[in-house]
Amino acid sequence: MNLILFGPPGAGKGTQAKKMVDLYGIPQISTGDILRANVREGTELGLAAKAYMDKGELVPDEVLIGIIKNRLKEPDCEKGFILDGYPRTKPQADALAALLDGINKPIDVVLNLEVPDEELVERISGRLMCNNCGASYHRTFNPPKKEGVCDTCGGELFQRADDREEAVQNRLNVYKKQTQPLIDYYAEKGILVTLEGTKDINEVFEDIKAVLTKFA
Ligand code: ADP
Ligand code: ADP
Ligand code: ZN
Repeated sequence: MNLILFGPPGAGKGTQAKKMVDLYGIPQISTGDILRANVREGTELGLAAKAYMDKGELVPDEVLIGIIKNRLKEPDCEKGFILDGYPRTKPQADALAALLDGINKPIDVVLNLEVPDEELVERISGRLMCNNCGASYHRTFNPPKKEGVCDTCGGELFQRADDREEAVQNRLNVYKKQTQPLIDYYAEKGILVTLEGTKDINEVFEDIKAVLTKFA
């Protein structure tokens, strides 16, 4: 099963991806997590990406296309994968299509999580992320069992720098301008499924499972 989880920042892509990994046994490929790991480790890539991420701008396409090319070659992607946060621009979508055509592994479904802006801002401003496994929590909507600690891996929870007020509105604007147009692109290919991302976490997951029964 080759999937794209699509939607604005805060829509719940990472949250649903983690649940899908557990159920379907295919990896989550989160370009945000990959970039943050590079920033943390101080790699050349991380140093180049950080300024864009802090401002809520997109990291240049060449960088992302390189990351995805390498990641999809890994053996754990053979049975399928869940792309989370990629593609975000038309050039990224074109590069992905060329890459997957080359290995004859087309995208089966694009799951588009729809959530209105006001709710996105509430979700992002209360988000806490695990510094070890990248799991997302929320101060009120999805609190961890023990304050500050990840339920699944025991990692420490932190607030992302780009989840503080200033960068958030910019990320929503960037999404509308550069990423949202991909909805039409995938709809035209006949592989887009739009889901109500405003339902609670488990209900959204039920809806996803219902869509994926055809493919799993
Ligand atoms: P994305 O990966 O799309 O940016 P996340 O999965 O990190 O989004 O979710 C953003 C925030 O919203 C997190 O704090 C998460 O706990 C919370 N969240 C995710 N899904 C829901 C939901 N269905 N209802 C309420 N809060 C949610
Ligand atoms: P969110 O789900 O809240 O939008 P992500 O973790 O997916 O956050 O992304 C965080 C930041 O990493 C983005 O604001 C952007 O700077 C960078 N980034 C992640 N994925 C991409 C991508 N596909 N193209 C360009 N930049 C990206
Ligand atoms: Zn964790």
